[in-house]
Amino acid sequence: MRSLPNIIITGTPGVGKTTTCTQLLGLASSATPAINLKPLSINDLVKSRSCHSGYDEDLQSLIVDDDKLMDEVEKDIADGDGEGGWVIDWHSTAGFAVRWVDLVVVLRCEETSVLYDRLAARGYKDAKVQENMDAEIFGVVTEEAKEGWGDEEEGRVVELKSVNADDIEENAERILQWVKNWIKDHTTDGKGD
Ligand code: ADP
Repeated sequence: MRSLPNIIITGTPGVGKTTTCTQLLGLASSATPAINLKPLSINDLVKSRSCHSGYDEDLQSLIVDDDKLMDEVEKDIADGDGEGGWVIDWHSTAGFAVRWVDLVVVLRCEETSVLYDRLAARGYKDAKVQENMDAEIFGVVTEEAKEGWGDEEEGRVVELKSVNADDIEENAERILQWVKNWIKDHTTDGKGD
């Protein structure tokens, strides 16, 4: 039984996942009382535990071994008493067991010129920029998340706008508030003990 929720912060590359995770973890650690959220960057995990089988030059990314990756994710999530509190940073929810995750936050940057600039600044080739822009326009990540965790009405998939710097702050605060509510709803004394 988790004492803290597990959250995936997801979305197309460049929408602000890593920035939002960092902001959220900072807010959580400085809350009173502090909330012990832990980062789980899937990018880092793919590299540090060799969950890949080469590099795709066209896609400019590692070829992820999904089975191995999910085995590693499960190890981390089940770690300790499986007490939860993981904030997972990844551009997809594919492969994650629904039971592992309490909230899926899909960050959205529908202002295509803004997203374009962020992706181009990473040195992505035109084809890769275009592929990611298309994915964002069609809401691919949200659709995929809803297949697992249900519609927005069920409250487990939440889309948040991530276009400017204020959004980062606001989104991190909203997610933290959601975490606090989760703690209240899942403990008898409301303190997460
Ligand atoms: P992701 O993890 O989704 O790939 P990052 O958090 O690495 O995205 O952000 C990519 C770049 O875009 C960074 O330079 C970041 O500062 C910028 N960025 C992301 N979201 C925002 C936002 N809402 N407002 C301003 N800049 C942003």
